[in-house]
Amino acid sequence: MLIQRGGLKVVAGLGVSGVSAVNFLHDKGYRVAVTDSREVPPGHDQIPADVQTHFGQFDQELLLQAEEIIISPGLDPKLPEIQAAIAKGIPVVSEIQILRRATDKPIIAITGSNAKSTVTTLIGLMAQEAGVKVAVGGNLGRPALDLTKDDPDLYILELSSFQLETTSHLNAEVAVVLNISEDHLDRHGDMFAYHTAKHRIFQGVKKVVFNRDDSLTRPLVPDATPMQSFGLNAPDLNQYGVLKEDDGTIWLARGRERLLKSIEMYMQGTHNVANALACLALGEAIGLPRDSMLETLKTFKGLEHRCEFVKAVNEVRYYNDSKGTNIGATLAAIDGLGAAIEAQPGKVLIILGGQGKGQDFTALRDSLSKYAKLVVLIGEDRSIIEAAIQGTTSIMHAETLKQAVEVCQQHAQAKDVVLLSPACASFDMFKGYEQRGHQFVACVNELN
Ligand code: ADP
Repeated sequence: MLIQRGGLKVVAGLGVSGVSAVNFLHDKGYRVAVTDSREVPPGHDQIPADVQTHFGQFDQELLLQAEEIIISPGLDPKLPEIQAAIAKGIPVVSEIQILRRATDKPIIAITGSNAKSTVTTLIGLMAQEAGVKVAVGGNLGRPALDLTKDDPDLYILELSSFQLETTSHLNAEVAVVLNISEDHLDRHGDMFAYHTAKHRIFQGVKKVVFNRDDSLTRPLVPDATPMQSFGLNAPDLNQYGVLKEDDGTIWLARGRERLLKSIEMYMQGTHNVANALACLALGEAIGLPRDSMLETLKTFKGLEHRCEFVKAVNEVRYYNDSKGTNIGATLAAIDGLGAAIEAQPGKVLIILGGQGKGQDFTALRDSLSKYAKLVVLIGEDRSIIEAAIQGTTSIMHAETLKQAVEVCQQHAQAKDVVLLSPACASFDMFKGYEQRGHQFVACVNELN
């Protein structure tokens, strides 16, 4: 255990990961204080009574007394109170940094603009089903420091760019940036800063997995670091990829070796083939048996709100992709479903909109022209989106999600697909993507 007892640890920002950081540090015997700008932050009643609390505003004086500040992923290190501490030389770190210091067990580290939760969950299942004592969490599910309670032999962590911004030398056993597309530019400022934050995942990494189809995911690491790639094209020897038969069969493959037909998986769409290949490469890096991983791939049903099939009404299929909160995810959904129904022939009717986070929506133009017959816009940034996609296909507006679903039903024909994949954050109309997805499913269930 490398942790040094001593000065004051100040947790900035409560919430789920803040609560877990406070409790972890307190249990280890540190003096801990917590500050949050909210009067009554979530989780205020889940921390020990002898922890100093400073709520209502960030307590500058407290922050300047810290030996180290543990910043919650939801807080921007650019906040003046945090910047003042940094200027005084006080280290500002994520809870992931604390975990790294607290354990020497191997970590599989996963980031990317999209597919993090799917890949983290799936590789977690693969490890578990192969008999490894594994703990899975981070940006998804349980906060990273809670996982230490399980005393696992392996940590599998989903990491966001926000967590990575304040994490150094993670020394992961294997790390991957799954893909990079525009997201969170409102916080990171530009793509370069976003990309830089994500690539911090490779500091001190032992093995690397990267995506051949996305050159931004390939890190600059020392030549001796073993690298394995995945991609949706034919793989080189020892790499993961796809082999296609003349009859249209798609094989997940390693080199020339055919491993599994894509239709043997429940997960839909070519983006999920890429996700499965990423998991096989990660699993190989930590020595999971291949047969066991392939069995897991055959049984994994995918996650709720990610291109999730809801039901068919009058031969129109409805999909909930509420977790499609950026353009990259929405493109994967339109292209994946659009290509699948093109020959039937069917078209996509898509509900788009919400908070656009500064993204350039012209990137949707080609896919909409090719596969969509109608876009129904909802939410705060609809006029920005409308201006960017004008002329690609028919565009309509709706005030509510219910109305949007009804408009789609009126315009859909048998074999079409109605897709909620908004490419936007949901907070202008909903509590979060889950609520948006559940409301969509409820609206679809009312259709007849
Ligand atoms: P994250 O945790 O990174 O947000 P999720 O697995 O929750 O990732 O998926 C988020 C969104 O991205 C969903 O809309 C999902 O359908 C989509 N998605 C999943 N895999 C990919 C991929 N490989 N490329 C692009 N989009 C993807």
